[in-house]
Amino acid sequence: MKWLHFLFNERCPKCKQVLNTSKSNALRSTVVKVCPSNHYQKEFHPALETYVESDEVL
Ligand SMILES: [Zn+2]
Repeated sequence: MKWLHFLFNERCPKCKQVLNTSKSNALRSTVVKVCPSNHYQKEFHPALETYVESDEVL
Protein backbone atom coordinates (compact mmCIF):
# COMPACT_ATOMS: atom_id res chain seq x y z
CA MET A 1 0.00 0.00 0.00
CA LYS A 2 2.26 2.71 -1.27
CA TRP A 3 0.06 5.54 -0.03
CA LEU A 4 0.42 4.51 3.59
CA HIS A 5 3.17 7.05 4.05
CA PHE A 6 0.45 9.64 3.72
CA LEU A 7 -0.78 8.64 7.14
CA PHE A 8 2.55 9.48 8.70
CA ASN A 9 5.16 12.17 8.47
CA GLU A 10 3.01 14.66 6.64
CA ARG A 11 3.98 18.20 7.46
CA CYS A 12 2.62 21.62 6.66
CA PRO A 13 4.67 23.27 3.90
CA LYS A 14 4.50 26.59 5.73
CA CYS A 15 5.15 25.83 9.38
CA LYS A 16 6.41 22.24 9.21
CA GLN A 17 4.11 21.04 11.92
CA VAL A 18 2.86 17.52 11.59
CA LEU A 19 -0.59 17.50 10.11
CA ASN A 20 -3.52 16.33 12.16
CA THR A 21 -5.96 13.83 10.83
CA SER A 22 -8.95 16.02 11.40
CA LYS A 23 -11.62 13.92 9.87
CA SER A 24 -12.15 10.84 7.84
CA ASN A 25 -15.12 10.34 5.63
CA ALA A 26 -15.86 6.65 5.66
CA LEU A 27 -18.57 6.98 3.06
CA ARG A 28 -16.22 8.61 0.59
CA SER A 29 -13.20 6.66 1.79
CA THR A 30 -11.16 9.80 2.15
CA VAL A 31 -8.65 10.91 4.72
CA VAL A 32 -8.22 14.60 5.47
CA LYS A 33 -5.14 16.00 7.17
CA VAL A 34 -4.94 19.57 8.36
CA CYS A 35 -2.19 21.79 9.71
CA PRO A 36 -2.68 22.52 13.43
CA SER A 37 -2.43 26.20 12.54
CA ASN A 38 -4.84 25.87 9.62
CA HIS A 39 -2.34 26.72 6.91
CA TYR A 40 -2.87 23.71 4.82
CA GLN A 41 -5.19 20.84 4.11
CA LYS A 42 -4.56 17.67 2.26
CA GLU A 43 -7.22 15.20 1.32
CA PHE A 44 -6.40 11.76 0.13
CA HIS A 45 -8.61 9.39 -1.82
CA PRO A 46 -7.13 5.93 -1.40
CA ALA A 47 -9.44 4.38 -3.96
CA LEU A 48 -8.20 6.80 -6.59
CA GLU A 49 -4.69 7.17 -5.16
CA THR A 50 -5.23 10.88 -5.56
CA TYR A 51 -4.28 13.78 -3.37
CA VAL A 52 -6.19 17.01 -3.14
CA GLU A 53 -4.13 19.76 -1.60
CA SER A 54 -5.37 23.14 -0.47
CA ASP A 55 -3.90 26.20 1.17
CA GLU A 56 -7.25 26.78 2.78
CA VAL A 57 -8.75 24.68 5.49
CA LEU A 58 -12.36 24.16 4.66
ZN1 LIG B 1 1.06 25.21 9.07
